[in-house]
Amino acid sequence: PAGAPVADPWPAAEGARRADALFRRKFGDAPDGVWSAPGRVNLIGEHTDHNGGLCLPIALGHRTFVALRARGDGAVRVFSAQHPDGGPATLAAPVTPQRAAARTGWPAYVFGVAAMLRTRVPAAFPPAGPRPPTTVPGADIAVDSSVPQGAGLSSSAALECAVACALAAAAGADIDEPHLRRTLVDAARAAENEVVGVPSGAMDQSASLLAAAGHALLLDAADGTATPVPFDTAAMGASLLIVDTRTAHALVESGYATRRAECAAAERALGLPTLSGATDADVAGLADPLLQARARHVLTENARVRAFVEELAAPVPAPQRLGALLDASHASLRDDFAVSTGELDRAAAAARKAGAFGARMVGAGFGGAVLALVPADGAARIAGRITGAFRTAGLPDPACYLAHPSAPARREA
Ligand code: ADP
Ligand code: MG
Repeated sequence: PAGAPVADPWPAAEGARRADALFRRKFGDAPDGVWSAPGRVNLIGEHTDHNGGLCLPIALGHRTFVALRARGDGAVRVFSAQHPDGGPATLAAPVTPQRAAARTGWPAYVFGVAAMLRTRVPAAFPPAGPRPPTTVPGADIAVDSSVPQGAGLSSSAALECAVACALAAAAGADIDEPHLRRTLVDAARAAENEVVGVPSGAMDQSASLLAAAGHALLLDAADGTATPVPFDTAAMGASLLIVDTRTAHALVESGYATRRAECAAAERALGLPTLSGATDADVAGLADPLLQARARHVLTENARVRAFVEELAAPVPAPQRLGALLDASHASLRDDFAVSTGELDRAAAAARKAGAFGARMVGAGFGGAVLALVPADGAARIAGRITGAFRTAGLPDPACYLAHPSAPARREA
């Protein structure tokens, strides 16, 4: 195809209207308000956050919208437009992490956040503090979202963070207060790790709650810092194209666990708390070539994040230089970390051949999406060329999106 459709996210007003309408239809009355939180894409720094290293996500224009009304009885009821079957998923009081963890499927994300907030939000406001909130209440919740699910764009954190903001606000907290935002990052991550059972780092929730429009967010897992970095693709004549290959391999979970175990083995062999603290000489001294390759990826990837941030500090960053770093990241994830797939390699190669400045797989790997930095006027054409390459290979058409560094979680209405 000469071009392929590149889907735009819903405008915020449209998302808020949809969540509000769903709430009225399902719960028969107006919500107290509507909150939203974005998905994210990581520009560079993959498989570094669980190794004490650096990553650089942006919040997407794709957002999850949550309409909420507080309930006096402590129960949580939730509908999602993305999972429309049956009645509301309900968890009666007491909403505890244990009772939430006994639930399976998507409602566990919502119940998990509600349970984790119960202790964390009041604790974030000691009695002598500025605005002691009331206890986090029960709630009726309606969810609608333009974040693609399971594409590595973090629909899970978008859901968690939108619910966290809505419930914290319902408790009387100021969700724009920085300390409270940190508490929400922690609660949303705890819900995903301890209730849903996904052993992820804090990148997704940090991006969704702490990012800034027009900026990337430099996260350092070593000290927990989150630093906004100006990121203006338009000024450099470029756009960010996300190509979801819609291929998830059976290896996603076991592959992630294996890589984490290999990184832990390399740490033990080096006697270091995290791989990001290793030197090139340390890595060269590792006896096992496989552990050496895994560690080399972490070190070189951290260096690429630093180089990317350095380039962004230039008066006008060069997209060619940023693109070369994306290409090098892809090669390292493919060759040293061994988490790419034929589909991801094909999408990245087709993007480059069609004129992208650079492209790399994003997310944990074993399927998911590719991120390409492309000339500003080239997104639809390059998406078309990648789609053509997939058709030639007998693969399903990928789904393509434009990524703009967008606003963090916020109240919409
Ligand atoms: P990703 O975060 O990359 O999209 P995950 O597997 O981490 O992929 O999270 C996807 C899961 O999150 C979905 O399978 C579903 O359980 C839940 N989820 C995400 N968005 C929604 C939504 N709008 N409504 C209901 N559940 C959702
Ligand atoms: Mg996720």
